[in-house]
Amino acid sequence: MTRKPGRPFFANPGPTNIPDSVLQAVAHASIDFNAPEFLAVYDAAMAGLKRVLRTDHEVFAYTASGHGAWEATLANLFSPGDVVLMLDSGYFSQTWAAMARALGLEVRTLGADWRRGADPAALTAMLREDAGRRIRAVLAVHNETSTGVTVPLADLRGALDAAGHPALLLVDTISSLGCIDVRMDAWGIDAVVGGSQKGLMLPTGFSFTAAGPRAMAAHAQSRLPKYYFNWSNMLPRRTRSFVGTVPTSLFYGLAESLRLIEAEGGIDAVTARHARLAEGVRRCIARWSDAPGGGPHLYCTDPARASDTVSTVVMPAGHDAEAVRRIASERFGVALGYNLGDLGVGALRIGHLGDLNEPMILGTLAALEMALAIAGVPHGRGGVAAAMDFYAAA
Ligand SMILES: *Cc1c(COP(=O)(O)O)cnc(C)c1O
Repeated sequence: MTRKPGRPFFANPGPTNIPDSVLQAVAHASIDFNAPEFLAVYDAAMAGLKRVLRTDHEVFAYTASGHGAWEATLANLFSPGDVVLMLDSGYFSQTWAAMARALGLEVRTLGADWRRGADPAALTAMLREDAGRRIRAVLAVHNETSTGVTVPLADLRGALDAAGHPALLLVDTISSLGCIDVRMDAWGIDAVVGGSQKGLMLPTGFSFTAAGPRAMAAHAQSRLPKYYFNWSNMLPRRTRSFVGTVPTSLFYGLAESLRLIEAEGGIDAVTARHARLAEGVRRCIARWSDAPGGGPHLYCTDPARASDTVSTVVMPAGHDAEAVRRIASERFGVALGYNLGDLGVGALRIGHLGDLNEPMILGTLAALEMALAIAGVPHGRGGVAAAMDFYAAA
């Protein structure tokens, strides 16, 4: 293969770009994970992670990608035959539900228009109908990475409260944490699932569950089989996490990524940057959509719920999103996300999370605009210019 000069652009909604200083930090020599100098880094990194989660509760970490944290969370909270309610929002909610079924849980689902996500009033109604209080937990994906829709977690909490239902609230924040506001304790979330390779700007390889007191009480009753993932096996260890070797290098990386978040002005500054960058992407797509007969447009139809970390872009009928994605990759070295799940339309996804700035986004959008032209997809002119105008004025 001939060399492609210059830096390839990575605009996948996960994994994300790893800052150079984080790459350097993970290149740490092996160290005893009980050595005081490592434990100091570990403790500081875990404390920083709790600040990002906005929780004072327990955090259990695993050497696994996000799927492992999903499984650990279910195995630690439930017993065979327990009923859980999944808010159906797209590919990731369906996959987590399939896992719950495979583990022996009875999964009910609350359907929703995937282009908007869950309706809190419908959740309240469904919980009110559960007179026998059989539903043990409501499971929600905060930011559905397949559709580019973010559900308001405070409203979900409100929906449980309105029904007066004691179910736990479990939330997957794998593609939102570190980019979109997550307030575990203030919003009464009982368990939060997160992972390393998206908003936290790290290599893939560790994921975690933050568990509040009600989750810990459920854990004490749970009978699903578990060993490596068993929180009770973790708690007596010095690290209060991991059963087996601790992935030390990832914690040097986590300490550095948390330092970068602080150096940017803290998590509020980071979420504000994600909101700003995402708005430019949306203005660009809105301009593209303005073509005779329709152009590429956002899958999400509720502007208040459009994700600040991923935009799912639907191609006009008769045009192939995968062809556009391939051109962007092969001609311009820009990696975009492919269509994930049964959206019923052809779409590609622009990831705009993690270590990113305006020129990186503009480069991605420009490559995509060129790919649309090359593929012959009708689109309104001036999408990138619309994003530039927004960033210049913001
Ligand atoms: C990426 C992702 C997952 C899966 O995580 P892996 O680390 O790939 O196992 C789960 N949920 C959401 C919302 C995601 O974006």
